[in-house]
Amino acid sequence: MGPTGAGKSRLSIDLATRFFNNAEIINSDKMQVYRGLGITTNKITMQEQLGVPHHFLGEFDPIKSVVKPHDFRKLASETISDIISRRGLPLVVGGSNSFIYSLITKRFDPQSDVFNGPDPDPVSSELRYKCCFIWVDVCLPVLNQYLSKRVDEMLDSGMLEELAEFFGSGEHLTVNRSGLGQAIGVPEFEGYFTTVEEDVVRQVEVYNDAVRRIKDNTCQLAKRQVGKILRLKDAGWDLKRIDATEAFREVMTADSGGGRVAEIWEKQVVEASVKIVKQFLEE
Ligand code: ATP
Repeated sequence: MGPTGAGKSRLSIDLATRFFNNAEIINSDKMQVYRGLGITTNKITMQEQLGVPHHFLGEFDPIKSVVKPHDFRKLASETISDIISRRGLPLVVGGSNSFIYSLITKRFDPQSDVFNGPDPDPVSSELRYKCCFIWVDVCLPVLNQYLSKRVDEMLDSGMLEELAEFFGSGEHLTVNRSGLGQAIGVPEFEGYFTTVEEDVVRQVEVYNDAVRRIKDNTCQLAKRQVGKILRLKDAGWDLKRIDATEAFREVMTADSGGGRVAEIWEKQVVEASVKIVKQFLEE
């Protein structure tokens, strides 16, 4: 678990490839379950997966379907049973707390919302699995700085072209608005791709404004996600927090070579997680 950008996918691959050779990953990011917009939604690539099996990553048609928490509960629990029957280790990885909550809580009421609104329903601490929860956290000012840089990197690596194709092919008109249509990047860039600006200066302004809003909305998302995690923790969920701030601070240091980041990540995040998981498996 953890806010967007905190390194959940990377950690899951580190754990799966080096420590638990029977692990299979169940994606629990509600935008990454849909086919398409891989860069915009930050899906782990095939190369990065290093052969670790992934479930619910780009599996659903964004035009027809909206995957709701109760759908995820049903489908992911079937997959978990399947993985366990093959003596595998299911790792649920992702930032959508509503998905994690629906999957793990003993009794799930699709009508109730434990995270949103002025008077959210109480969080249940009765769980249907024995879970080891790892919460990768990064202090918000540092994470915000990183998220802003990540948006620039996503744009450099083809996010704009991906969205141009999405809008150009008219997919934005057919995609479900309550599903992939909500992915950060889609509403923000809609005006840029759907309104013809004669004036180049104005077009640049619209572009810059979209990028600024993506950065703001991503930082807001991270903050809300941490709020939801704290809500689970306050309700008694035994979440083990791992602080990855130092690794991210190092990433943000201009002259830092990748080596030092990898070293800090290994010591403070990977080793700490392995210890927690091993302890859990021995219990
Ligand atoms: P909610 O209570 O809104 O259902 P949640 O905890 O289930 O929240 P989040 O993962 O926090 O789900 O997603 C909330 C919103 O953040 C999404 O509807 C979407 O707009 C945006 N979002 C989440 N993940 C991504 C992603 N990978 N790419 C782009 N946008 C995302």
